[in-house]
Amino acid sequence: ARAGVAFNRILLDPGVGFGKTPEQNHVCIWNLDRFRAFGCPILVGLSRKSFIGRIVGDQRLMGTLAADMIALLRGASVLRIHDVIENRVALDIFKTLSASARAALGEPRPDARANVALALGGNVGDKAGTLRRALRALGGEPGIELTAVSCLYRTAPWGKTDQDWFVNACALARTDLAPEALLDRVKALEVELGRKPGERWGPRVIDIDIIAYDDVVLTSGRLTLPHPELFNRAFVLVPLAEIAPERLIAGRRVGEAAASLRAEASDVVTLD
Ligand code: ADP
Ligand code: MG
Repeated sequence: ARAGVAFNRILLDPGVGFGKTPEQNHVCIWNLDRFRAFGCPILVGLSRKSFIGRIVGDQRLMGTLAADMIALLRGASVLRIHDVIENRVALDIFKTLSASARAALGEPRPDARANVALALGGNVGDKAGTLRRALRALGGEPGIELTAVSCLYRTAPWGKTDQDWFVNACALARTDLAPEALLDRVKALEVELGRKPGERWGPRVIDIDIIAYDDVVLTSGRLTLPHPELFNRAFVLVPLAEIAPERLIAGRRVGEAAASLRAEASDVVTLD
């Protein structure tokens, strides 16, 4: 922190493989769960390490895969690897086995939900009131948990500029809905809040867009992720930077992207 590195940008790499004795490496893998107490994601780079070779001889790839899966079971969340395809296969099997065992035992997966960023806006009727109702309704949706909400912002119309000013806000949420199911929910919510079908770009009671869904990159007929206009829109970037400045979307940090739109950002001011 003293060097100015945000805590959420730190990965812990216990350096398995650099033990003075093979046993130190074995103990390190076996006790990986103890590193969780630091609260950072744990990275391991066991791939083709010589201490694995000492156990399995020339079967170093098989040994690596076995060690990688043990590390995952013990709490690693990032693997540094050489053999992408083989690790992918092992990981898929690992995930299938653990997910079906959890399901059979009725154990929820604590981190199975996606992290999503949503943008809301509207410029018809009681703009702020509708936006607050939309946020309340989103928070009450089964399968959606709001984790952060920005201020409301008064913003100049964008794209089609001969219309009334907008109110905009962003929210972060965790959801177990799949991307398209989430889109269905927010579209239905727009209609419940009084949006008439067919209002695009022009005046609208409420618009709810999915800005990002984990790191999913998707282009389907109905949904593009991350939202393709994000980096052109100060009315999304400024509220989003308020609640998620460190978040990376399409490789860009939200806070920095917002700052780079300074000119347009002057048209985005907090309402309350
Ligand atoms: P706007 O482009 O002004 O948000 P709409 O809300 O009417 O206009 O959206 C038009 C269509 O855009 C939606 O019906 C939806 O299928 C599609 N779409 C594509 N990607 C996204 C996204 N990331 N979030 C929300 N809608 C999206
Ligand atoms: Mg929309």
